[in-house]
Amino acid sequence: MKIHPIYTHNALRNFTYLIELPDASCLVLDPWDEKQVNQALQQRQLTLSVIINTHEHWDHTQGNQALVDQHQCEVWAHENGQGKIPGLTRTLAAHEKISLEDGIELNVLDTPGHTFAHLCFVVLQQGEAKAVFTGDTLFNAGVGNCHNGGDPAVLYETISKQFHTLPGHVIVYPGHDYLENNLRFTLDLEGSNGIAQRWLKKAEAANPAINPLLTTIGDEHQLNTFFRLENTEIKTTLGLLDGSEKDVFLALRARRNKW
Ligand SMILES: [Zn+2]
Repeated sequence: MKIHPIYTHNALRNFTYLIELPDASCLVLDPWDEKQVNQALQQRQLTLSVIINTHEHWDHTQGNQALVDQHQCEVWAHENGQGKIPGLTRTLAAHEKISLEDGIELNVLDTPGHTFAHLCFVVLQQGEAKAVFTGDTLFNAGVGNCHNGGDPAVLYETISKQFHTLPGHVIVYPGHDYLENNLRFTLDLEGSNGIAQRWLKKAEAANPAINPLLTTIGDEHQLNTFFRLENTEIKTTLGLLDGSEKDVFLALRARRNKW
């Protein structure tokens, strides 16, 4: 299996992903633009068998219908996406394992918070987590907002229970390229974070269309304020030295909304 990020060059900085399998079939995750997807399919001589949508927002599903019409592919997503996700043919549930090829599976995570129809997908190789597609739940160095059908308290539970616990080497493939901005947010809260300072320089130099800069879960523990809820500097900046982890998370989410 190979993962090909497709940067969509839109104002929201979406990523679509092509998941290439050895039999020259592929899955596409969150198609933004059918022309761009078709071009990538042609370039790599792949047939499209399945679309997966991480959630129901239009910027993650707007390529569905045209691709279904052209390729007669299936569409898989959260059951709460019924009636909202164009072409939906199969609903997926938490802990479901989707076999992609010999020894490689996707493990379905039910990850409410950004919306209540949100799934993430852990890539398992011989049963070991290697990567995770995170949609708008977790970004490189940030987390999703909760403005359009979400709930920050639920997002806190999802991030702390399902993402803090993933192994450090797992690569994070997010729904948007927000790394540079998120690092600026981290440094606004925790100016002394030297690792974030170094990553910001790398992010400024990276081109998401050519060499998207991705983090691992281990990096997230060092860069992402939403993973650093016990950090004294962050808590001091927020005026929440005595706050619980949940208090800090909610205060960070509220601050990021206005930032
Ligand atoms: Zn979204």
